[in-house]
Amino acid sequence: MSIDHPPTPKPLLCPGCDLLMADVTPPPGHTVRCPRCGRRLHKWKTNSIEKTMAISLTGLLLYLPANFMPLLTLDILGMNTSSSLFASTLSMFNQGQYIVGTLIVLCGFFLPLLLLALIFSISLALNRGWRHPWVARALTSIHHLREWAMVDVYLIGVFVTIIKISHMATIYYDIGLFCFIGLVLSTIGALSAMDQRLFWSRLDSEDDHPLSVSDRAVTGADAGLCLCHGCEKVVPISSNGAGRCPRCGEQVHLRKKDSLNRTWALVITAVILTLPANILPIMEVDYFGVPDRSTIMDGIIYFFQEGSYGIGAIILTASILVPLFKIFGLILILITIHFRLPGRRRQKTIMLRFIEFIGRWSMLDIFVIALLCALVRFGFLSTINAAPAVFYFAGVVVCTMLAATSFDSRLLWDATTSSNQQPNDYAAT
Ligand SMILES: [Zn+2]
Ligand SMILES: [Zn+2]
Repeated sequence: MSIDHPPTPKPLLCPGCDLLMADVTPPPGHTVRCPRCGRRLHKWKTNSIEKTMAISLTGLLLYLPANFMPLLTLDILGMNTSSSLFASTLSMFNQGQYIVGTLIVLCGFFLPLLLLALIFSISLALNRGWRHPWVARALTSIHHLREWAMVDVYLIGVFVTIIKISHMATIYYDIGLFCFIGLVLSTIGALSAMDQRLFWSRLDSEDDHPLSVSDRAVTGADAGLCLCHGCEKVVPISSNGAGRCPRCGEQVHLRKKDSLNRTWALVITAVILTLPANILPIMEVDYFGVPDRSTIMDGIIYFFQEGSYGIGAIILTASILVPLFKIFGLILILITIHFRLPGRRRQKTIMLRFIEFIGRWSMLDIFVIALLCALVRFGFLSTINAAPAVFYFAGVVVCTMLAATSFDSRLLWDATTSSNQQPNDYAAT
């Protein structure tokens, strides 16, 4: 007579702190969180593949009218100007700001299209049971793309622009604006309908070897395991601490390579760029032939003086507070690691996740300036142009975003993990 042993649970590693756990599938509507750093590990989503396919297809259908049909029409003293989203996206090139223009084209036009097309193709492939290698590569790309496809930030930029120019012109809302709102809702909806773990599990090969794990291991590093950041598969570490993920082909490292040095370099660059971004003028308004150049702070003060406190607070938060919070937050985390300061690691990990989340919202001011340059073109009467600070400000946004992604939050937990903690309940759960 044979005794049935319960099956060995699959190991699960937290991407935020490297805690080793037994993998569990949550019941519908429930979420699995890391007990140590609080990071969300998995949320059950019903009919994920079908919903993702339908919503991303809706987004793709709205993409062309949203970008190429007129967004807004302005009327000043009988003179009309209108612009589509795509024309606004290109407006920085007309100002000679080619690097900022390229960034806006990528984040506001090209990457959102690529993201939706990939999401639709992957969900279609999984729905049909196709398991071509390109599906895994496309799914890994989504992980990198979602932060840089910024249609949601762009839409808030459109609303800020409307409020900003509402006092100087009569505004007519065109069909492109409503299609754009639909596009943004579809993109957000498709991303939140995606159950990435379910998607990856459909691509897993059935002959995956079970991984043996020591009962006393607390972290992935203790157990000789490493998490692939492309697909979140747990893979054994090779002797040199690196290798390729067998599922998605991404390079895996026990910890992100040169994470601290790269993060320091990017944070210091952001600090240097912050000065010209705030001191130099960011926008030039020609009103009846008289040029008036304003800095980021001038624009905020203007809103508060006009009594538009809400919009003033949004610009103040996105353009000044968020970049400063990102820079000081990252410096604090880096110092914590260098001096091995104990305590509050959970709070610092949450702060890092918050920095990653808010990073892209600083692009708001850049999108607003691009929209204003495209819309406010009334010749002698009134024209808006970009000024030099726009380049430095875009640099701050990009550097802080790259710094947050370069940093490996597991380093925060490494200093004390193995020596101070008790063996985990991996084997018991
Ligand atoms: Zn964790
Ligand atoms: Zn992988």
